[in-house]
Amino acid sequence: MPREFRQAKWPEPLIFELPKGRKETFRIDDEFRSEAREALERIPAELVRESGPGIPNLSEVEVIRHYTRLSQMAYGVDQGPVPLGSCTMKYNPKIDEELASLPQVTNIHPYQDEDTVQGILEILYLMQKWLAKITGADLCSLQPPAGAAGELTGALIIRKYLHDKGLLSKDEMIVPESAHGTNPASAVMAGFKVVKVPADADGNTDLDALKAVVGEKTAGIMLTNPSTLGLFESRILEISDLIHGAGGILYYDGANLNGILGVSRPGDMGFDIIHLNLHKTFAAPHGGGGPGAGAVCVKKELTNYLPVPVVDYDGSKYFLNYDLSRTIGMTSWFYGNAVPIVKSFIYLAMLGPSLREVAEISVLNTNYLMSKLVKLPGVSLIYGEGRWRKHEVVISFDRLHKDTGVSAEDIAKALLDRGFHAPTIYFPLIVPEAHMIELTETETKEKIDELARAYEEIVNIAYRNPQELKEAPRNTAIGRLDALLGNHPKTVTPTYKYVGRIRKTGSS
Ligand SMILES: *Cc1c(COP(=O)(O)O)cnc(C)c1O
Repeated sequence: MPREFRQAKWPEPLIFELPKGRKETFRIDDEFRSEAREALERIPAELVRESGPGIPNLSEVEVIRHYTRLSQMAYGVDQGPVPLGSCTMKYNPKIDEELASLPQVTNIHPYQDEDTVQGILEILYLMQKWLAKITGADLCSLQPPAGAAGELTGALIIRKYLHDKGLLSKDEMIVPESAHGTNPASAVMAGFKVVKVPADADGNTDLDALKAVVGEKTAGIMLTNPSTLGLFESRILEISDLIHGAGGILYYDGANLNGILGVSRPGDMGFDIIHLNLHKTFAAPHGGGGPGAGAVCVKKELTNYLPVPVVDYDGSKYFLNYDLSRTIGMTSWFYGNAVPIVKSFIYLAMLGPSLREVAEISVLNTNYLMSKLVKLPGVSLIYGEGRWRKHEVVISFDRLHKDTGVSAEDIAKALLDRGFHAPTIYFPLIVPEAHMIELTETETKEKIDELARAYEEIVNIAYRNPQELKEAPRNTAIGRLDALLGNHPKTVTPTYKYVGRIRKTGSS
């Protein structure tokens, strides 16, 4: 039996609103006091404040308890699974944090002499090489600080490359309907028009629809494979021939490489540009734990277009190479977010040749869970019935919703009550009442069984007493928030008062 899940309860006042503890929580030494007075006298009168700063006057223990209570109202992957599809929330080994926090990493400056930072340059150089090898590309830039920044970098490379070839009329970027929202956004920011293509019943890109839109104006296609449905694009080589045949470029959204890591490579599938989310697949924390890193890898013909600098090695020394003839310029600062790159470097160095097991175990975990969930009443797959999944699976509660009125959101809230972070919901948009579940290689069979049991219990309640699920969650720090109000620009930074108001009005 799983232990009952119960989170510390809201409210916790802001630290400014905590009852004042002892009047004087620290003492200023008399000698210092007179020194301070002398110093004060030298400050021009108009600059001296009239009253003390409004900072909380609390003792250390009061501060620690306040933040500990807050941390007990939060949930993270160190407590239990975060099965957020498309986000690859794997456990981040603590050794990565420990080594990346060394002063040799955190206290160096990009303007230091190269001679004094040979160690970090070697790490960056090796990462450029390893990621190129993993993706089947020729050179990687570590500069983009996020996946979306990597996409924009890639799209700008495509544009400059096509312009260099005099192909100014190529201004259409093909993006599948199931794509991550950042894909069309990046294409538009780089100056392309977006052309959508649907998925077929198997969950592959609909080839007939694709053929109908590929033509002279095609600049390229942005694809993720496995797709956001967790399905491997089985006719990827045909797609690649089709796009290349029209003079277009294949862009690979590799935010979620988990399902094929060490097994297959985008470069071998015909992709020319690939971005990777080091803060997903490669174990750098994200989702509030940031910052990220969105490496971009390219095939030989495009290496000169990468952002500068890239790290090079002349046989005796590592150096920053700004000399790429067709570079699109800098897309971020120096070599990007170096600290998460170091975390990913350690993760890869530890895995070494067993890298492939990441894919094998995460795929096994996903399919094991899927095999249990598809047996539940009211659950269906919509796309790719009978196919194995890769890193994630998208299930639909459309039937359950029609039968009982219980929505994908209600089920997600009920999962919270059972000690699980909710999966990604209502995405991709082509699946109604969707739960997009990704377990990664770091979850155990016992945890997956527990998650499957939680789903089973919730589905049974939906058919027996749907109202109970409308009132979930009960065991979390706060009950159901008003999602609409929660997304309102004025409540983007919720304060104690706002949350208080949301609770009073209740959910709609
Ligand atoms: C997360 C993700 C992105 C965007 O990455 P960010 O680092 O959040 O900008 C792009 N594509 C897919 C498929 C993703 O899952």
